[in-house]
Parts: sequence; C-alpha cells; structure tokens
Amino acid sequence: MVDAGELLKWYSHAQRDLPWRQPGVSAWQILVSEFMLQQTPVVRVEPIWRDWVARWPTPSATAAASAADVLRAWGKLGYPRRAKRLHECATVIAAEHGDVVPDDVDALLALPGVGTYTSRAIACFAYGKRVPVVDTNVRRVVARVVHGRADSPASVRDLADVDAILPNDERAPGFSIALMELGAIVCTARSPKCGVCPLSICAWRSAGFPPSTEPARRVQKFAGTDRQVRGRLLDVLRADAAPVTRAQLDVAWLTDPAQRDRALDSLLSDGLVEQTADGLFALSGEGGEAGPSNVLVN
Ligand code: SF4
Repeated sequence: MVDAGELLKWYSHAQRDLPWRQPGVSAWQILVSEFMLQQTPVVRVEPIWRDWVARWPTPSATAAASAADVLRAWGKLGYPRRAKRLHECATVIAAEHGDVVPDDVDALLALPGVGTYTSRAIACFAYGKRVPVVDTNVRRVVARVVHGRADSPASVRDLADVDAILPNDERAPGFSIALMELGAIVCTARSPKCGVCPLSICAWRSAGFPPSTEPARRVQKFAGTDRQVRGRLLDVLRADAAPVTRAQLDVAWLTDPAQRDRALDSLLSDGLVEQTADGLFALSGEGGEAGPSNVLVN
C-alpha cells in the first residue's frame, strides 16, 4: 500500500508551483486547466491558461465569447476539438447550473468534454471530494508500488484499484494530487528517480525492477501527421479575421495535397471551420449565415 504520511510530507515541499493550484482559483478555472492538460504539457498550458482565465474568468464569460475567439485563444495547444468542447461545457454550466461547476461526479460526467478522469479530477481538486482520480501517472505509480509491475495498461479495475489505497479521511484529496505529482516528477515512465522517492515501500523496487511485459508503446510522432496539417490550416484561419480563400489554405501545406484536403475536411466535419456561401473558409461562427458546412467544396 502507499503510506499517506510519507507521500503528503513529500508533497508539502516538493510540489510544483502551478497557478491552478493556488488559493482562490475557482472550480471553473481548475476545469479549464484540466481540459488544457489532457494532452498538452504543463509548460505549454501555463501561459495560455493565465491569459484565458484573466479574459474569461467564469463559465458565462466563456460562453459569451464567440467560438472563433475561443479557438484563437486556444492557440497552439493542439487537439482544438477540446476548445470547442470547453466552449460547449461553459455554455451548459452557465445555462443549466447557475454558472457554477457542479461538484457531483455524475453531473460532471454529463457535461460536454468531461470524461471519467476529468469529472473525478474536478470533484477532487476543486471540491475536495474523496474520489479516485486515475491518469497515466497515477496508474503507473500504483502498478509499481502496489503490484510490482513496471507499468500497467488502462483497465476497468483502475478506479477500484486507486480507491483501495485512498485514505478514508480528509487527507484523501491531498493524497490523490500528491500521487499524481509523484508520477509526474519522480516516478516517471522512463527514468524513475528512486533515489529521491519518498515512499519507503515499493513492490517494483523490492522485486528488483522487473521489465515491463506490456508491448512497447509507440511514440506518437507529430511531423507530417494530419494533426500537423490541421494545425497549419487553423494557423491561417486564426491569423485572419475575415474568411480566407482556398488558395490561402493550400499554401499552408504543399507537401501532400490529398492530405491537406483530408485535414480540411476533418476540420469542417468537426465544426471547427466552416465554409461561406461564396466558397471561402472561416473559423467556426465567422462564416456568416451560410456556415457551418461540413461538405468540402474543392
Ligand atoms: S521507488 Fe522508484 S519505482 Fe517505486 S514509486 Fe518510488 S520512484 Fe517509483
């Protein structure tokens, strides 16, 4: 098991100074950070998050922004469907929850873009609830400390597994965030820093660090992917307040025209981009009355 005292003592002095952990940060602002952190590292999220919550501190302020402004503010965080979902989430919270993020996991799960991890992260980090919060860092630490394995794939047992080691008292939310922090900065995937680990008992270390039996995970490349092409096309649209021509988009990716068409089609299908009646392209909401369209006109 995990010694809560050891973990919390370590966290009290080793935790990173992250702005969304400061006193006075609202549940909404924590939710914004969780959306941004889903697939983007802290160092890239931090400046965007600061600007975002200064500009739109509440769900209703975010809901009142245009979809295009939200996409622009998302900048280069990647996976821009998250920005659209965050905007939709803000709209639902403003309209149906009195502009207050719900504190109940089931109510959170009903919000756009909020899944198993995010719902529990908000209930725990924003409202101090005793709920298991499982991301890849927590899953790895538990696999090592409790089960003596190098890593563990996602499983339906994850929540029960973490629930079993959560303290049954007011230390639970702090324990959850400390466990995640340990996985992020000490018990990392490739080079765990066992020499500075606060935990005196670890099954994987005791077993002599047996190698992983899981198939090696392929490192996701970015260069040359459809994601990169989508980003290039969005860059063109973000830079211009007016709709742009197909030719302006075409020069954003000359390497593979078929890939560029596919990327543009997917942006249209996702509702991130729309086409105007006269065949120009714009960010969602900026295409005039004719948008949105999900049919690519070549
Ligand atoms: S002893 Fe090493 S492997 Fe075990 S939890 Fe600490 S950092 Fe991770």
